[in-house]
Amino acid sequence: MSFKERISELVDSKSHEFICINDKIWEFAEIRFQEHESAKLQMEVLKKEGFEVKKGLSGIDTAFFGSFGEGYPVIGILGEFDALSELSQKADMAVREPIVEGGNGHGCGHHTLGASSLASAVALKDYMKENNLKGTIRYYGCPAEESGGGKTFMVRDGYFKDVDVALTWHPSSSNCVLESGFLANVKVLFDFKGISAHAAASPELGRSALDAVELMNIGVNFLREHMIDEARIHYAITDAGGNSPNVVQHKAQVFYTIRALKSPQVQELFMRVKDIAKGAALMTGTEVTTRVVGGYSDYLANDTLSRIMAIHAKEVVNEIDYTDDELAYAEKFKNTLGVELKSMEKIMNLDKEAMKKPIMKGLLPPPKKLLGSSDVGDVSWVVPMAQFMGNCYALGTPAHSWQMVAQGKSSITHKGMIAAAKIMALTAAEVFQNPAVIDKIKEDHLENLDGNEYICPIADDVIPNQI
Ligand SMILES: [Zn+2]
Repeated sequence: MSFKERISELVDSKSHEFICINDKIWEFAEIRFQEHESAKLQMEVLKKEGFEVKKGLSGIDTAFFGSFGEGYPVIGILGEFDALSELSQKADMAVREPIVEGGNGHGCGHHTLGASSLASAVALKDYMKENNLKGTIRYYGCPAEESGGGKTFMVRDGYFKDVDVALTWHPSSSNCVLESGFLANVKVLFDFKGISAHAAASPELGRSALDAVELMNIGVNFLREHMIDEARIHYAITDAGGNSPNVVQHKAQVFYTIRALKSPQVQELFMRVKDIAKGAALMTGTEVTTRVVGGYSDYLANDTLSRIMAIHAKEVVNEIDYTDDELAYAEKFKNTLGVELKSMEKIMNLDKEAMKKPIMKGLLPPPKKLLGSSDVGDVSWVVPMAQFMGNCYALGTPAHSWQMVAQGKSSITHKGMIAAAKIMALTAAEVFQNPAVIDKIKEDHLENLDGNEYICPIADDVIPNQI
């Protein structure tokens, strides 16, 4: 039996258990930094499977890893498991119907991401044991991918220092190995401090922090005319200084995310936004303090590793078949989509014929652009990485939608997660047994860095979970 067949068998032999984990984490639906039940469940599995577990990484209760084996090479498999707020939705319902009004839901498929990565690490461990292979397999439980940047803190604090190769994936509505496409970003809080006063009786005594926030936002909106096309800047006013118009607001806060293709471009824009904040403070007689609370680096795909992953991905996804019931299920959800389909068509460069299908099959070429960000980027600067998107939903299902939540426990998702576990385990097993490939992967990594060093977007004194 080939190693491919054996790995596949090992994943299949425990698939039921990991499908249950997928469904349970879907039900926990815990948002960033609150993933206590989701982390506990995964740590229990790791312990039961003989992994040594270390938790509380970077001072985050829900950040952990499980290690099996020892020495070189060290292969890291990354998992996520955080949900999103306001996306509670009943499973399998093709109409918007929350389970809990205002509750959380797995609108980015991270429950599947975690369950599958864990399944992959366990299958690899079983394969290592069977074949007496030397080396280390490590599953990383990475919390708070959504806005919290759990991995960035874990990278900053050195938890990936000894890792030779890392792999991950993300649930999607198509299959492809990613070449690039995650934007670097920085997340910053601007706090303005003014002087409160009676807005009618003694306005001349007041200095409005809310005025400063408004002027800052106007300044940044003018900045948009003079920045690079690929940059994105968005903000939320997180403290408007109270609810009384007749009290001059002595405090106000605005939360910014600044994104661009490369980390140095983000830093350059950040300096300009900071200058605008200072200008707003000067104009209003207020004071401003700036706090970076998170940040992601751009993603560096490792060529050799991505190529190996693509070979396995193609073979595995080509074997997936969908039943008539599954096709009808996907069609039902596809019919709820509108402009989202246009966006999918554009991002994946699909033709009209392909867009008629309820579900996408086979491996597609990588998209040229994905205008999101992920803390996977930070890992990719310090460890050679490959990642892919794995089909788990009806064609065109957008991330962060109720439709994605609704489909999160379907048999289509389950098939996608098992396929993903196989693809990562096969890629890792091949690398594991071939030191020359690891050398080549490391050469590629140096080429990717092109003489640049990783600069963590968050300073040493930034603590997690401030948002
Ligand atoms: Zn996601």
